[in-house]
Amino acid sequence: MQKFNYHTHTLRCGHAAGDDEQYVKAAIAAGYEIVGFSDHSPYPGVIHPGDRMRMDELDGYLASIKGLGEKYKDRIVLKVGLEIEYFPEMEDFYRELRKVTDYLIVGQHNRILDAMEYDKWCDDEDVLYYAWQIRQCVEHGFADIIAHPDYFMLGRKGWSAACETAARDICAVSLRYNIPLELNLNGLRYGKQHYDDRVSYPYPYRPFWEIISETQAPVIYGVDAHKPMNFMEKERYVKVMEDIKDLELNFISDFRI
Ligand SMILES: [Zn+2]
Ligand SMILES: [Zn+2]
Repeated sequence: MQKFNYHTHTLRCGHAAGDDEQYVKAAIAAGYEIVGFSDHSPYPGVIHPGDRMRMDELDGYLASIKGLGEKYKDRIVLKVGLEIEYFPEMEDFYRELRKVTDYLIVGQHNRILDAMEYDKWCDDEDVLYYAWQIRQCVEHGFADIIAHPDYFMLGRKGWSAACETAARDICAVSLRYNIPLELNLNGLRYGKQHYDDRVSYPYPYRPFWEIISETQAPVIYGVDAHKPMNFMEKERYVKVMEDIKDLELNFISDFRI
């Protein structure tokens, strides 16, 4: 089990559960030494219950995690961040978020803010746009971790040349800026899906991870906790490797934000 985790949600996003303090207690009980909170970022002028917190919840979120960090400082190191998605019109907002958070992770779910979700449909042209969004986010300095880089497989039935191009582009920007790719421990909750060429969790999806292995882009695990008990589900570290355990991955064992 990795001793740090920078991918943790709170009930504010509308699809996670549990009190902030329960996440901290669970993480300590599971043996984590560093935990970063990265709830789904709000965006100005957007209210989308069930997807992300509201703008008026942001200050309370930051204060709550900082307060817990102080309360539990002898037992665990807490960081407060956000999971963002890259939309060109929000660049000034990301600069503001940089000032009030310890870190940001990019977990791209939507092509357009609150529309065109990649898990509902993601054709070849969408995949290339997905990779472009991640590249833009990293190149602008808005992301410290690339979450579930193979997320787009939720909206597809198979791999393609465009998927390979996207994977290589994402690996290239990861290597160039030394931004780790996340091996997400929460994709297996969807169960194994029938793809054209295999039966697999949507992520990790082996063809993507073959390219990550080949390029030796840096890798970390992410719990992507949506409830406190997710920290205790250590069997996920084994299950998530089922299809890729023979690949040599460049795990960063002491990643620090
Ligand atoms: Zn979520
Ligand atoms: Zn997440």
